[in-house]
Amino acid sequence: MAHKLPDLPYAHDALEPHIDAETMGIHHGKHHQAYVTNLNVALEGHPDLQGKSAFELLIGFDALPQDLKPAVQKHGGGHVNHSMFWTLMSGDGGGEPDGALADEISAAFGSFEEFKSAFTAAAGGVFGSGWAWLVVDAGGALKVTTTANQDNPVFTEGSLPLLGVDVWEHAYYLRYQNRRPEYLQAFFSVVNWAQVGAHLEMVRAGDAANAMQSWAAGQRANTEARLGELMD
Ligand code: MN
Repeated sequence: MAHKLPDLPYAHDALEPHIDAETMGIHHGKHHQAYVTNLNVALEGHPDLQGKSAFELLIGFDALPQDLKPAVQKHGGGHVNHSMFWTLMSGDGGGEPDGALADEISAAFGSFEEFKSAFTAAAGGVFGSGWAWLVVDAGGALKVTTTANQDNPVFTEGSLPLLGVDVWEHAYYLRYQNRRPEYLQAFFSVVNWAQVGAHLEMVRAGDAANAMQSWAAGQRANTEARLGELMD
């Protein structure tokens, strides 16, 4: 069962003018595809692990064969992070969150503007390639954190990501060149707050495991859909 690139939930140009169509096409079709392809290549010698989602591989990282770990961390992580990232943006996005998410952000950071400043500062401060995140930490509090490369806060610190922004140069270089702060402003114009709020609702309604398992189930469905195509 091969891992498969998930479809974008919108057209390449849906986020224009904030995130350009060329960047979206390359980012999804080339970069994310490469993570998927390289993960599949790495798993070729491990048929017993080919049925697991990328998320399950990362959850069980410690028990993986030593030779597989670097590929799972890089390419499995890249597959997990990008699969989430596409759903966090929308052509109808931007503005501010409402409901429980807005209340929790205000309670944790003082106001939405203070959250935005903290998130933007963290994202701007990532040295080299990585991500900035709004997470629910292990103690249940909202906070901003960052990860390097394709690491995800679930695995680095046991926090559950609600929102993440890719600050690898491939995410913004074509339109914004070295101007990461402009890209971050643009990102806030397309954030899909309804999706971010749904993540918070999942975390608050059940527990951490529910949110993670729901995501993992989605990955499994992708894999099964691919298997179905191959057997047709
Ligand atoms: Mn990326």
